[in-house]
Formats: sequence, C-alpha cells, structure tokens
Amino acid sequence: MDFGGKVVLITGGSRGIGRSIAEEFARLEGTVIINYNSNEKAAEETIRRIESLGGYGLSIKGDVSSYSFAQNMVETIINKFGKIDVLVNNAGIAKIGIFIDMVEEDFDKVLNTNLKGTINISHCAAKHMLNRKTGSIINISSMWGQVGASCEVLYSASKGGINAFTKALGKELAPSGIRVNAIQPGVIDTDMNSWMSKEERESLEMEIPMMRFGTGEDVGKLTVFLASDSAKYITAQVITVDGGFI
Ligand code: NAP
Repeated sequence: MDFGGKVVLITGGSRGIGRSIAEEFARLEGTVIINYNSNEKAAEETIRRIESLGGYGLSIKGDVSSYSFAQNMVETIINKFGKIDVLVNNAGIAKIGIFIDMVEEDFDKVLNTNLKGTINISHCAAKHMLNRKTGSIINISSMWGQVGASCEVLYSASKGGINAFTKALGKELAPSGIRVNAIQPGVIDTDMNSWMSKEERESLEMEIPMMRFGTGEDVGKLTVFLASDSAKYITAQVITVDGGFI
C-alpha cells in the first residue's frame, strides 16, 4: 500500500483513534490533513508525528457539526491540494448516562457532532470526488451502533445512523467510482474511556474475548486497508474491529 501523492482528510485527527489513523497514512507517505475542535497542543503533536514518519501534515481547527465550517474546510483543502482522495469521518463524542437524565442540549450535541458532522463533511467532499469519479469515505462508527449500549443511548443512535448512512451512500456513489465504508470499533484505549476506574476497566476487559481493549493502531490498520486499492471491490460495508466482543 502506498498513499504517496494522495490527500487524506481525517476529522478529529488530533488525538486517540484519529491520531493513530493519521500515523498509519503518514507511514505510507500520504498528505494528511487533520481536523480538530479545540485541543491545539494535541493537534501540533499529531502533525509532528506525521512529519517524523515521512508524511506531510496540516491541521485545520473547527467544529464538524457546522455545515459552513465543513464547506470552508473542504474548499481550503481543494484550493491548496486540488483534491481529497480519502475522507475519514472520525470526529466524535460520547455522553454517558441514563437516557431519561439527558436534556435536549445533549441530544443536539451528540447527534450533531457524530451523525450530522459525518453527513456535513461527506456532503462537501463528495461533490469534489464526484467530479473526479474517484474517492474513498470511511466513517468511524461503533459496535454500539449495531447492538446498542445501555447508558449510551444517544451515542448508539448516532452511530446506528452512521451505519445506515454508510450503506445508503455507498450504494448511491458506487456507480460514480466512490467507495463508502464504516468501521465499528469495540472498546479502544483512548481519552474517551479514561473516565473508567481501574476496577471498571478490568471487568470490561474480561467481557472481551481477546481480554484487552483495542488500540488506535488496530483501527488505523483497517482504515488504510479500506482506503487502499486492495479494497477496491468493498463498499457500503460496516466492518467490526472489537476483539470478538459483539
Ligand atoms: P477522543 O480521544 O476523545 O478524540 C476525539 C477527537 O474528535 C479529537 O480529535 C477531538 O478534537 C475531535 N472532536 C470532537 N468533537 C469535535 C467536533 N465537534 N469537531 C471536530 N472535531 C471534534 O476519541 P476517540 O476515542 O479517538 O474516538 C474517535 C472516534 O472513534 C469517535 O467517533 C468515537 O465515537 C469512535 N469510537 C471510539 C471508541 C473508543 O472506545 N474509544 C469505540 C468506538 C468508536 P479535540 O482534540 O480538539 O477535542
């Protein structure tokens, strides 16, 4: 696999899974643009890592839930690089708690970031991909989008939406040479799970057949495969990487 000369946009690429995905593309010589929302230091560190791995990196700050930001970001990239070959919709947030305790602001935040954010950036990038009749979109979903999680109801709903969006858009764009797939990870060792106590973490690990949390690299390796020509007949699919959990 080689991404030399390819332009890759990763939303939420400053930390966690997005950073690992950025590193995998950088190892394969991609031009990697990472988007992030607020943590500038983390974004700078990711750019440093991309460059030390031999890739070219650029960071763009902004909120994926805003359509006008999505338009501006995609236009900036097209003006600078002329194209987007790979879009990874990875930006996401979780909201843990009982459904009945959630308020309208929580509904909006989780759904607008995870689901609408994915729709926003895909809508803007797909226009350019359609002109070139090539491109790959990979959406980072979650196993909870398939099976649902108690105390993560809004999150599960947003990820279930991403799964349906992926299957539908994949079918619509396939005749135009654009592939759309999703990855649904299990529990991955990032800041998103840092709220767990040592005991909670150990007990959750025991529920996973592989008896460990996944790593960002586990997701990153699958992402570059799906973006590559090795996966050229794969589209409209949701692929699980969860150590056998679900
Ligand atoms: P993380 O460590 O919390 O990182 C989240 C990333 O998303 C950060 O780069 C953050 O930017 C960015 N982000 C958040 N809201 C944003 C917004 N409105 N606009 C732009 N960027 C935004 O999370 P993670 O664990 O790596 O998760 C990444 C993706 O994988 C998410 O979609 C998540 O749902 C999914 N996932 C995670 C797990 C898991 O167990 N960790 C499992 C399944 C699926 P800042 O740094 O600026 O905050």
